[in-house]
Amino acid sequence: MSKARLATIWLDGCSGCHMSFLDMDEHLVTLSEQADLVYSPYVDTKEFPKNVDITLVEGAIGNTEDLEKVRKVRANTRILVSLGDCAVTGNVSSMRNTFGVERVLKHAYEETATLNAQIPKIDIPLLLERARPIHEFVTVDVFVPGCPPDAPTIAYCLDELLAGRTPDMNKYTRFGK
Ligand code: SF4
Repeated sequence: MSKARLATIWLDGCSGCHMSFLDMDEHLVTLSEQADLVYSPYVDTKEFPKNVDITLVEGAIGNTEDLEKVRKVRANTRILVSLGDCAVTGNVSSMRNTFGVERVLKHAYEETATLNAQIPKIDIPLLLERARPIHEFVTVDVFVPGCPPDAPTIAYCLDELLAGRTPDMNKYTRFGK
């Protein structure tokens, strides 16, 4: 039987969800027998590939680059998983929303800078007015809450999907089993 094609992507998040993925430890070996990691911060693939079976998406949509990426992921993925509270609700990434883009940039690049205080004008993606959850832009198939979701939760989700089943994330949370 051919292996599934698995991808992970990191958008407007802190990478904690990806750290939690690594916390699956030896279960990663079991996963590697069933799936090939075809795109991820863990591997060196430059372009998001076509025909991906499962993509885990960490982080909210906070800027134009995130938006472009998540649309590309959606167009090339059979099952899109919203991984972690930033992806599911906006969470920490959306804490800036009440201040507005101008105020946030000024604070980050001018008021708190110790060197060369200035708001960069080139080579950075434009911030969207608000950081928003993934499902406000593209269809999400599975939601995995948690900040971050713990390793057993991620393992359960992937095991179920790889077995061709829909994981029941309402039952399996870090406060559940
Ligand atoms: S859900 Fe938590 S751990 Fe995951 S990216 Fe957001 S802040 Fe980081």
